[in-house]
Amino acid sequence: MSVFHDEIEIEDFEYDEDTETYYFPCPCGDKFAITKEDLENGEEVATCPSCSLIVKVVYDKESFMCGEIIEAPSSETKVELLQS
Ligand SMILES: [Zn+2]
Repeated sequence: MSVFHDEIEIEDFEYDEDTETYYFPCPCGDKFAITKEDLENGEEVATCPSCSLIVKVVYDKESFMCGEIIEAPSSETKVELLQS
């Protein structure tokens, strides 16, 4: 059995529309990644390509399987742009 480093809600992930992948910062400096397709298939483990850590993704499976897309909050991006 796998031991999760943490449990992260999908709302806290950063969504990349180009790759249709959700990202979340990993303690090693890389990012955990899980694709939208994985989520639609019921997958709930996001992996980091640079280390062995994994996190459990907390999300509403049914909303994904119905084709509903949860988009990353755009307001946060705007705030970051203003600050930089
Ligand atoms: Zn890592």
